[in-house]
Amino acid sequence: MTRNAAAEIAFSSEQGKANYAAALRRYPAQAIVDLKAMRDNMAHLVAMVGGPASGTAVMGVVKADAYGHGLLPSALAALAGGATWLGTAQAHEALLLRQLGIGPDRCHILTWVYNGTEVPFDELIEADIDVSVGSLPGIDAVAAAARKVGKPARVHVKVDSGFGRNGFTPAGFDAALAKLVPLAKEGVIQIIGQWSHLAVADSPDVPEFVTSTDRQVETFKEFTQRMEHAGIAPQIRHLANTAATLSRPKIRFELCRPGIGLYGYEPDPAMGEPGDYRLKPAMRLQAQLGTVKDVEAGHGISYGRTYLTPDNTSTAIVPLGYADGIHRSASGFDMQGAKHVNKPGGPVRVMTVEGPRLYHVSGRVCMDQFILDLHGSAAELGVAEGDTVELFGPGRGEQFLEPTADDWARAADTISYEIFTCLRNRIPRLYEHAAEVLDAHDLELLDPASLL
Ligand SMILES: *Cc1c(COP(=O)(O)O)cnc(C)c1O
Repeated sequence: MTRNAAAEIAFSSEQGKANYAAALRRYPAQAIVDLKAMRDNMAHLVAMVGGPASGTAVMGVVKADAYGHGLLPSALAALAGGATWLGTAQAHEALLLRQLGIGPDRCHILTWVYNGTEVPFDELIEADIDVSVGSLPGIDAVAAAARKVGKPARVHVKVDSGFGRNGFTPAGFDAALAKLVPLAKEGVIQIIGQWSHLAVADSPDVPEFVTSTDRQVETFKEFTQRMEHAGIAPQIRHLANTAATLSRPKIRFELCRPGIGLYGYEPDPAMGEPGDYRLKPAMRLQAQLGTVKDVEAGHGISYGRTYLTPDNTSTAIVPLGYADGIHRSASGFDMQGAKHVNKPGGPVRVMTVEGPRLYHVSGRVCMDQFILDLHGSAAELGVAEGDTVELFGPGRGEQFLEPTADDWARAADTISYEIFTCLRNRIPRLYEHAAEVLDAHDLELLDPASLL
């Protein structure tokens, strides 16, 4: 009998069970994505901004393969939750959304990373995708593409209100207006939006960060005035990411752009837990144990002997490594003796005869695997090869001892965003509750082998 430390899967059909069995044969780890959680997170964000009639729309940010959750299923779940916009950084993902079946009748799509010379603005304009411009070569390239296609480009003017990344600075804005105004008058471009991004919206408790966000908002409004004076007032403005959507009602404007909230996390654990915001983490990452064996006290574990077993014990191999996106910085050290260092690695929930236990990566994370010191006899604990362990899940409350991606982020000295986006696509993504969340048309768009 194998034990399971992850939540039971809500299979929707016999085919779902067969898909799961096939995934287990293909790879010893699975990322299971709960589309209902994602839909509900979006519905909650939409309700927070006042609902569909509030004058504030919500964009599901699905860049980077929907933060590693899978582009198309996540986009469809966001739409099912009431998003009326989708956003991607890279143009090819925006085009993919249209090619995969999300037409302009369903939602607007905005894409924003480009260089003025190579991005296929012509294809984007033809596919009814809104584009951001934030540089003079960008304006020239968009205008040339719109003329070539014979259709106006829907443009969002990106302004640098203080983030220091993309967009026109206040000093450079006159030159931008000098190009934008005649193009808008001629009908080559349509000025749809004005937008910007916040640097520290996730720290509402740090006064100097609140002040710097206030300053960004003021600068943002000055840009709006300059556009109005120039005769190209934006139809909509947008500035708020998840953090601002949750905590700054005054700057939601006509559109909010939450990303991490859709996937069920708060942007910074300093803001609290996902549950504090009625968000539910959508992904759980599980794996099936490889070799489980007994070793003696003082046994070196993994490269560099950074972990020496403190006692006679059993170890278990988790078949995930840095080639899967498990951060090597989440390695666990325990050096006995003079050089004693004790740094716990990333957490793993393991089911034993006595219930769940939380273990930590012992020693260095390898390319395809890492090791757990079970701190006891595997035979007595009832832990065996083939058992399913859970690296992170929704964090079902203290008594469950269930780690979240925030816990892995702490162990790896990073943020939850990087934990998901690093997960390689060789780990199967499997979708739970698809039939409950999506209508028949949308279900048909998804890879049937990915549905549970
Ligand atoms: C990623 C991103 C967002 C979403 O940020 P979250 O912190 O995930 O909510 C919004 N806007 C832009 C421009 C982004 O790049």
